[in-house]
Amino acid sequence: MKPAAFEYIVADSVEMAVASLAQAGDAKIIAGGQSLVPMLNFRLLRPSVLVDINRIPNLAYVREDGGVVRIGALTRHHQLETSPVIARHFPVLTEAMAHVAHLAIRNRGTIGGSLSHADPAAELPMMALLLDAELRVVSASGARTVAARDFFRDALSVDLAEDEIVTEVVLPKLPNTGWGFAEVARRSGDFALAAVAVTLTLSDGKIAQARIAMTGVAPTARRVTEAEMLLIGQRLDDGVDSDVIEAVRAATEPPTDLHASAEYRRHLVGVLAGRALAAAWGRA
Ligand SMILES: Cc1cc2nc3c(=O)[nH]c(=O)nc-3n(C[C@H](O)[C@H](O)[C@H](O)COP(=O)(O)OP(=O)(O)OC[C@H]3O[C@@H](n4cnc5c(N)ncnc54)[C@H](O)[C@@H]3O)c2cc1C
Repeated sequence: MKPAAFEYIVADSVEMAVASLAQAGDAKIIAGGQSLVPMLNFRLLRPSVLVDINRIPNLAYVREDGGVVRIGALTRHHQLETSPVIARHFPVLTEAMAHVAHLAIRNRGTIGGSLSHADPAAELPMMALLLDAELRVVSASGARTVAARDFFRDALSVDLAEDEIVTEVVLPKLPNTGWGFAEVARRSGDFALAAVAVTLTLSDGKIAQARIAMTGVAPTARRVTEAEMLLIGQRLDDGVDSDVIEAVRAATEPPTDLHASAEYRRHLVGVLAGRALAAAWGRA
């Protein structure tokens, strides 16, 4: 099918984009178009106006700023995947990006689009949760900052009003931290059946801080704080306790669909958590 008719506005500034959104009421931003265009074509969405943000200058960047790394909302997946700044400070994110769709899609898709779309099996919402990201959100009436943990509400649902735009994602640096990432998808480039990302920070040879995030196994990506708490003070030389794996599985609400049953996904996410934790322990 083809999309229903819409008016098309090319914004040349964030101010113009948010003014257009506020004016139209039911407008949609188009960034990479990799998720939006299929939804328009299937007529799952029928906005009266599309506000194209691709020509807004200075919205695509990866920049160090003291203790944080700032990422512009229009930064393409491939830019993240190949950024030396990301590779130095967040190698777990570099690894995750290689699992996002295919190169052609990574060349167009943006971090702002992926986070705002919030597909339940997407990697970037999981990474935003893992890395304690903050999102800068702008509307005609001002700007606000929202923590990733408060941003993702439900499948394809985020804390974003109709007239708001994500302009920047801020990641606090994580020095001296081991990481692990494990994903299973049916084919390379497919959305994850399940994926787990982990960071471990040690103190005196024991785990002082653990972060575990997962995707594909609940309506939104999730952090698994129960399992994280169980890891504090532990060493993983003899493997990961089954309590930790069970806490990961208990925090899931996996769907059954064409690709896998809920039972399979729940089993899988535990296996992936074990692998990601072992890799993170090895690196830490
Ligand atoms: C075949 C295929 C396979 C894919 N596989 C994967 C995969 O394995 N993993 C994965 O994570 N993703 C996958 N994707 C999705 C891809 O990563 C998209 O790029 C991403 O979900 C959306 O980014 P976008 O820039 O294209 O956003 P768009 O499609 O332009 O927009 C998506 C939504 O976000 C809104 N939006 C966009 N930018 C902003 C902003 N700055 N502020 C507020 N709202 C905004 C739009 O209004 C729209 O509602 C796949 C896509 C395809 C077509």
